[in-house]
Parts: sequence; C-alpha cells; structure tokens
Amino acid sequence: MRDLYIDGRWVQARSGATRDAINPFDRSVVAEVAEAGVTDAREAVRAARAAFDGRERHWTDARDRGRRLLHLAGLLERDRSAVARLETLDTGKTLTESTIDVDDVVAVLRYYGEMAGEDRRRAVTPPSPTARSVVVREPVGVCAQISPWNYPLLQASWKIAPALAAGNTIVVKPSELTPMSTIRLFELIDEAGFPPGVANLVLGAGATVGNELVVSPDVDMVSFTGGVETGRRIMERASATVKNVALELGGKNPNIVFADADLDTAADYALLAVFLHAGQVCSAGSRLLVQDELHDDLVAEVCRRAAAIRLGNGLDEGTESGPMISAEQRAKVERYVEIGQEEGAVVAVGGCRPDAPGLQAGFFYRPTVLTGCTSDMRVVREEIFGPVLTVERFSSEDEVVERANATIYGLAGAVWTADAGRAERVASRLRLGTVWINDFHPYFPAAEWGGFKQSGFGRELGLQGLEEYTETKHVYVNTAPEPSRWFKG
Ligand code: NAD
Repeated sequence: MRDLYIDGRWVQARSGATRDAINPFDRSVVAEVAEAGVTDAREAVRAARAAFDGRERHWTDARDRGRRLLHLAGLLERDRSAVARLETLDTGKTLTESTIDVDDVVAVLRYYGEMAGEDRRRAVTPPSPTARSVVVREPVGVCAQISPWNYPLLQASWKIAPALAAGNTIVVKPSELTPMSTIRLFELIDEAGFPPGVANLVLGAGATVGNELVVSPDVDMVSFTGGVETGRRIMERASATVKNVALELGGKNPNIVFADADLDTAADYALLAVFLHAGQVCSAGSRLLVQDELHDDLVAEVCRRAAAIRLGNGLDEGTESGPMISAEQRAKVERYVEIGQEEGAVVAVGGCRPDAPGLQAGFFYRPTVLTGCTSDMRVVREEIFGPVLTVERFSSEDEVVERANATIYGLAGAVWTADAGRAERVASRLRLGTVWINDFHPYFPAAEWGGFKQSGFGRELGLQGLEEYTETKHVYVNTAPEPSRWFKG
C-alpha cells in the first residue's frame, strides 16, 4: 500500500479508501494506493499553510533550498532505472522514453537548485532624491500542483522544482491513473530531509481532491497541467478566491513541411512528432501539413513507416510504442477516427486495434494516418490525444500560416524547409509557445514552455518558470522623513 505524504509523514487516507494503479499493457495491478478525500486534501493544505506561515524557522534560506534540490536530484539519479521502470509500468511508454523523462527531471531539479540562491532583487530609482527603492521577489505561498498522466513525473517536476526553489510550500496531486513515480519522488524528498509540511502529496480523483485544492482559501496558487475542459473549470472555481492560476493545457500542433525539405528526414520526424508515447503528448505533431509537390511521396513514406511501428510491452527491448493509457482514452480515439471518416477523411493506415494475441489485454490502437483532411474537420481542430495523424495539403506560405493558426490551441509546432528566410518568417507568424525549425520535440530546462490561446497561460521552465512562483514586492524607503503638510489642520 502506498500512502499520502502530509506534514513529513506517510499517512493513510482518512476513509481508508484505496485505488489500484493499473498497467495499461496488460491491466495487471502495479500497486494499491491510498485514495484521498476532501478531508485529506484539507489536512495537506493545513500542513503546507503552517509550514509556509512559520517558515522563518526552516525555509527562508534560498541557498539551503537550492542545496536540498540538488541533493534530491542526486538521489533521483541514483534511482534512475527503478523510477523509469515504475513510469513504464504506470503509463505503458517504452523504457527508453521513461529513462529520458527521468533524466529530464534530474536536469530540472538541478537547474532550479542552482538558480535558487541567485539574488533577484532589483534597485530602481524613485523620483525623490531622499528615497531608495528595491523590487524583490517573494514566494507566492501555498501552491497546489495538479499534474496529468502522460508525463507524470516530468510534468510534476516542472512545478515542484521552481516552486520549492522560490520558497513556496506545495501540495502535489498527480493523476489518479499514474501516481507511482510521484510517490517515489516523495520517498526521495523524505530521504533528503525537507522540512515537514514543505512538500505534501495527496492521491485521488480530480473532482474531489483536486477540486478541494482549487477552492481552498488557504491555497494561494494553483498550477495545472491537463485538458482544456478541466483547465476552464479550474479557472472558474479558482476565481472565487482570486488565486494565482497557471494553466498548461492541450494542443493541436502543426507540423509544416515545405517541398524543399528532405523527404527521409521529414518522414522520420513526422512519425516521431505524432507517435511518441502513442500520440499522448501535449505537443504531439498531430497535424501534418505538406506542400503540394512533396505531398504524395511524403504521405506514402509516412504510411509505410507507421504500419511498421512495433507495438508491445514498454519494458521489452524492441518495442517502439506501448499502449494507450486506458480503455476510455482508446474509445475516444476510436470515436474520432469514425468522425474523421464521416467528415470525408480516408484511413490510409491503421484505424483499428492490432490483432496480435499478445496485445489483446492492453489498450492498444494501431498508429493511424488520416489523409485528405481539411482545416475545418473536427479531427483536425480538436485534440485527439492518441496515435492519429491527420494530413492536409497546402500550396503557399500564406495559406499554411493561416491554416496552422486556425485553431483554439497554440502550444507548439514545426516548420521544415531548406530556406532559412522562409523558416524564420513562418516561425514568427505562428501563434505558438514553441516553434521548432527542422526538428520536433526538443525542450530543455532553460527555455520557457507553455501555450498561446487556449493552450493556457503562464510558462514553465526557464526564468519565467521560476518567476511564476513569486510575487513582486516594491519596498520604498524614505531616508529623510518629514511631515508632508498635505492636510493643514
Ligand atoms: P485531465 O484534465 O483529465 O487531468 C489532469 C489532472 O487534473 C489530473 O490530476 C486530474 O485528476 C485533475 N483534475 C481533473 N478534474 C479536476 C478538477 N475538477 N479539479 C481539479 N483537478 C482536476 O488531463 P489528463 O487526461 O490527465 O491529461 C491529458 C491532457 O493534458 C491533454 O489535454 C494534454 O494535452 C494535456 N497536457 C498538457 C501539457 C502542457 O505542457 N501544455 C503537458 C501534458 C499534458
């Protein structure tokens, strides 16, 4: 049984309720975990509040916070393979992907661990010669951090590391589908000896535990990564207490290939862009837009390669893609493929579950390519979040920019061309938080991540990812105070 971590102690849910974490490869039980309720969430918030309000004792020394994060990074690096294995058991993704994720988490902990002690005060010159002013950054307070199931530890770490570096106290709620790696991280937080109450973990459903964190008057900020519908609800509910809110939501990300791009590389990356982690990636390049002259050749090559992707157990060497996360998520994908066909798209490859006997227990769906798509189709506009690539054809630069931007989302996308001038022009016109030129997917701690439009607001990673977790305070000192005589009496 895995418990909740509240006020520096492992505790069971008050109700004694539990939930099974399921391996999506074969539906076996990975572990039984505590299922928190509203009372447990309140306990966790109380602990975080008390730790923040009494933090002079333990938590105001920024250099000390930095050292603790660096220590935590070292512990995670030590346990790298075990944590990667847990991530694969919980999500179904390949061990190679999970290992890359864990390495990225270590890098993020180090990045913010090193940044924590930097002096960010800024002197500004007031109009009065007998005054001085300084602008300082202070922690926001108690931060609720709610993460999704596709990159469980990675997404959580983009919140945990900067929040702790900035001196906040936190209550983390991972997705109820994939709690294992976050539980493991909290075991390491415990081992590293963070002060009690600074970092708390609650496990359970969004509608109960997550909602309590969002509405609690003792929480100062909620940072959420997940679907756009949930994001809207959270924003609405957080408004009652005027909390700081940061939202990292979905995407429908264009991968634009001009005719002068190299066919082999563009085909290779078209696959990597969309089929990584069975398409369950917020920045998945799920919309391929190809210029007329290259369209037929590129589509033929993408389809040939998509049909050859080896599905299997993420723990097995040779597996190129694991299952989807759940029966529900797969059913959603199946419905979208039907909708696409009703709208006139053609299933060029995939469009069904695999028939291999060894894959029947898992939530597998074959990598699917829908051709003949147009920008007004639902399959092109809405986030499917599965292994489905839509292909559109275009003629001109202006046309492709307009179409790529014609969505409510604005998370990420790519441009493939040998013409550097065109690449820069197009990149500057795309309303996206990240644009890759002749690449897809790279991200790293120093570069901000986040969305335009309904892909969310606020940024994670980079300097802004730290500043999200701070309030700005202006301290003005009158060095020669005298009566103002504003009122004459
Ligand atoms: P989800 O919105 O269903 O759930 C995300 C988290 O929110 C979970 O922990 C869930 O329990 C919690 N939650 C659900 N309802 C809640 C409520 N009413 N109040 C508080 N918390 C609640 O998302 P998901 O299915 O876990 O993740 C997939 C989505 O996440 C996709 O849309 C994907 O694009 C998005 N995502 C975005 C990014 C990014 O960086 N922008 C990264 C990863 C995933």
